[in-house]
Amino acid sequence: MPPLLSSFPALCDGFSEIFQAVAAQKGGKVADYIPQLGRVDPERYGLGLCTVDNQRFSLGDSNVDFCLQSGCKPINYALALEEHGEAKVHQYVGREPSGRSFNELTLGPDDRPHNPMINAGAILICSLIRPELDPADRFDHVMERWQALQGGHRPGFSNATYLSERQTADRNYALGYYMQERRVFPKNTALIPTLEFYFQCCSIESNCERLSVVAATLASGGLCPATGERLLSPRTVRDTLSLMSSCGMYDFSGEFAFTVGLPAKSGVSGMVLVVVPDLFGLCIWSPRVDRSGNSVRGVEFCKAMVSRYNFHLLDSRLGGSGKEDPRGLAFP
Ligand code: GLU
Repeated sequence: MPPLLSSFPALCDGFSEIFQAVAAQKGGKVADYIPQLGRVDPERYGLGLCTVDNQRFSLGDSNVDFCLQSGCKPINYALALEEHGEAKVHQYVGREPSGRSFNELTLGPDDRPHNPMINAGAILICSLIRPELDPADRFDHVMERWQALQGGHRPGFSNATYLSERQTADRNYALGYYMQERRVFPKNTALIPTLEFYFQCCSIESNCERLSVVAATLASGGLCPATGERLLSPRTVRDTLSLMSSCGMYDFSGEFAFTVGLPAKSGVSGMVLVVVPDLFGLCIWSPRVDRSGNSVRGVEFCKAMVSRYNFHLLDSRLGGSGKEDPRGLAFP
């Protein structure tokens, strides 16, 4: 198969220029609600890119590990969809942006969490993933799926992050008990193991190079570019990308959809996973986050990328946006 992005070297040069320009951004601050995040060097900055035909590019601290935090949410959602299908998953969780902060103690009008990308919904999704397994096997299942999504590379796990998350999780416990009281969980859900499973998923560690392969698997409709293996169904990927588009960037999701127009998910560790469907996946990491919890450089990189390249999903490929497009025109 010829490379999908025939001008890949030129794209890499363009991304290097943007990466360097965005490095000047020093706004935001490192999340410090747990010491394991507070101690991270604020100057860390990395990027990994993987195309749907497995071309790779990386910059900066691209192979330095960090914890996923909310970056685990879209993959857990995808795993729940694979296991139960869309109809059953959405009996329990909505698909509407909440317009509130990610850990707000609130449910939608029908007593379901608003969506799987905020904490209430992500905790609910954890209750749907292989609930019949004991906790160790359940976590192994998730790690195995991440390993496959990373093209065979097993992610790490920070026990220190997990212990800190668990110790400072009053809000997540409150959300869990509130949902239990409202009978939101499936019958027989064990609340504490479900919450612990959620904290463990947040404490999975990886880096930009590896995570770009996960994002590229989403970009290619569920086929891992590194192995050619089908890991997710096209429908699961579509649903996951839909919710990343509308809810993936905390309470900046509407702004991000407007200005960048790409499915993305951020985590308070400073990672942003970005998917350009049918083209490539990207992971940017820079730990200083803004008030919403989004990496300042991550968001700036995405904005700069979309003002130079024709990648906003609603950029016309016919209408002559005047922007660069490594695909060329669809119908020249
Ligand atoms: N572990 C964090 C929490 O559940 C996730 C923070 C995030 O990345 O949004 O509060």
